[in-house]
Amino acid sequence: MELIFEKSRPGRSGAGIPESDVPAVPVEQCIDPKLLREDVDLPEVAEIDLVRHYTALSRRNFGVDAGFYPLGSCTMKYNPKVNEDAARLPGFTALHPYAPESFSQGSMRLMYELRRHLSEIFGMGDFALQPAAGAHGELTGVMVIKRHFEKKRERRTKILIPDAAHGTNPASGALCGFETVTVRTSADGGVDIGHLCELMTEETAGLMLTNPNTLGLFERNIEKVASVLHGKGGLLYCDGANANAFLGITRPGSLGFDLIQLNLHKTFSTPHGCGGPGSGPLGVARELVPYLPVPRVVKERTRYRWEYDAPDSVGRVRSFYGNFNVMVKALAYIRSLGPEGLRWTSEAAVLNANYVKAKLAPWYDLPYNRTCMHECVFSGTRQVRESGVHTSDIAKRLLDYGYHPPTIYFPLIVPEAIMIEPNETESRETLDAFCEAMISIAREAKEEPERVKSAPLTTPVRRMDEVKAAREPDVRWNPAGRGGRR
Ligand SMILES: *Cc1c(COP(=O)(O)O)cnc(C)c1O
Repeated sequence: MELIFEKSRPGRSGAGIPESDVPAVPVEQCIDPKLLREDVDLPEVAEIDLVRHYTALSRRNFGVDAGFYPLGSCTMKYNPKVNEDAARLPGFTALHPYAPESFSQGSMRLMYELRRHLSEIFGMGDFALQPAAGAHGELTGVMVIKRHFEKKRERRTKILIPDAAHGTNPASGALCGFETVTVRTSADGGVDIGHLCELMTEETAGLMLTNPNTLGLFERNIEKVASVLHGKGGLLYCDGANANAFLGITRPGSLGFDLIQLNLHKTFSTPHGCGGPGSGPLGVARELVPYLPVPRVVKERTRYRWEYDAPDSVGRVRSFYGNFNVMVKALAYIRSLGPEGLRWTSEAAVLNANYVKAKLAPWYDLPYNRTCMHECVFSGTRQVRESGVHTSDIAKRLLDYGYHPPTIYFPLIVPEAIMIEPNETESRETLDAFCEAMISIAREAKEEPERVKSAPLTTPVRRMDEVKAAREPDVRWNPAGRGGRR
């Protein structure tokens, strides 16, 4: 496909401006020549060429609205359009963040109510809505943990992280100055309790646990884990990115978790991918509420007010109040589903994942084979052994079948991992068709391995050198034969 610059023709324009009816003045007389840019090399195209160019690009995009997107750990579920309608109400979109409180009561109420709903659903004392994504919520959570021990004048230098954890967990611990210590996963896919007991000391601030974990398995010994942590004065942190598995079924607060970050853009149905705005609210147990970021909306009788005065707070973690439009969508989602709807969401997500797991089990290895939650993790080791086809080949081949590939090579403890999260919004027909594609690829891997290894065969770009793109990024437009400074 041609670049927009290649479609450019000197003098062609997408806008018609009437002849000037005042005398022309050289631009140097109006603007200090020092500030003038020369050679602004913009493409010159007609409006229709512009529209066709971007429409063609958009059709090459893959999203949930275009097809099945079983990207494990990311919960790429369908975002009901009613959420978009709510988020686009002019009263929300046109509100300036510096507008006075008296003009912002509706939006402040929305944030206040979202916090109350989240506290109820997850069994926490309160939530802070400022963090802009899951990793940011984690970071804020570890800042709260640190502040908690500073206030108690306890010196704790370590934080425990299971070997199955998302990479953002150790990163959040390390950014706050903790030494991160790895806890092993046991053969049944949970925390190795013996190892946890060995590592848990009075120098340990806490454990960051994903539940259900990144293998898609619920931590069976969660109460034991909590008692080991609390027994030595530590805090139990929940990476809540996988909350889609247990809405309305269990509450982290009741399981012994002291903190949890959510990914509204996963569980509460904001379209994501391509780095679009997210939101990673941090929920904490009652005794940790004083450390949450400021400002916070407080309610005084019927009025809402911004509270900045919180001497123990970790302070501000983001400009203004967080990604407000994502909060609107989350509240619209919660209110339109209601308690039964939320519970159904998780039940259906878990059912769908177990359906896919059962259908694919004869074809792909399952290193941790027990009832899964909202996602299931296969291994491509059988295909490597039998025909040298790797998980990355299988993922590329799926593109030819019209599916976004699952998450691959994560979690790190599963060799050749294939992590499938079908989520509740997909029909049985979609799951059947996807499983047929996966089975067909497993057959191809045996019968025509070269075909799978050279996939994708039908996409606009074929296999790319991924390492080169990361090591030598070059995003300049620099065609031969065209001058200009670039
Ligand atoms: C997605 C995810 C994160 C990070 O969330 P971001 O919003 O991408 O920062 C952290 N932990 C787990 C388990 C996740 O799946």
